[in-house]
Amino acid sequence: MRTWQETVPAPSEFGNALIGAPEGSDMVCDLRLESVHDGILVSGDVTITLEGQCSRCLDPITDQMVVEVQELFLFDAPSEVPEDDDEADEMYEVQDETIDLEPMLRDAAITKLPFQPVCREDCEGLCAQCGVRLDENPGHRHEVLDPRWSALEGLFDADDDTTREER
Ligand SMILES: [Zn+2]
Ligand SMILES: [Zn+2]
Repeated sequence: MRTWQETVPAPSEFGNALIGAPEGSDMVCDLRLESVHDGILVSGDVTITLEGQCSRCLDPITDQMVVEVQELFLFDAPSEVPEDDDEADEMYEVQDETIDLEPMLRDAAITKLPFQPVCREDCEGLCAQCGVRLDENPGHRHEVLDPRWSALEGLFDADDDTTREER
């Protein structure tokens, strides 16, 4: 068994629309590589730096995520996928005596990223009507017009028209 502790730069487009690892940011790998009879078993964890945007208040977020991985890289991946193998599309292969960790990391990490990341669990976000930050404006609300008052407004408008017509 070998350990592989290395910091590698994040590849491009590692994330979803709102959050991900910026290209070139540190991915700290702490992995064990174990020879098994049909391949190499890679396990351990990778610490990833995340940057993104709060889906509620649009503030920038920085975070860290530890991704646990455990995958078998086969020396000889079958070219024909057995029919009853549901995990066939997640098969990894040792190629030219090296293993490419990137697809494995993508599969393990990107699916775990939140689609609606928040800066804090209780982030109140922005007012849907005027965009002020609700955290900084407790009790902020807009007067909701009672539809009956709108009807009255229409009434006054009508009166105005009548006045004008009488002139
Ligand atoms: Zn927020
Ligand atoms: Zn508002």
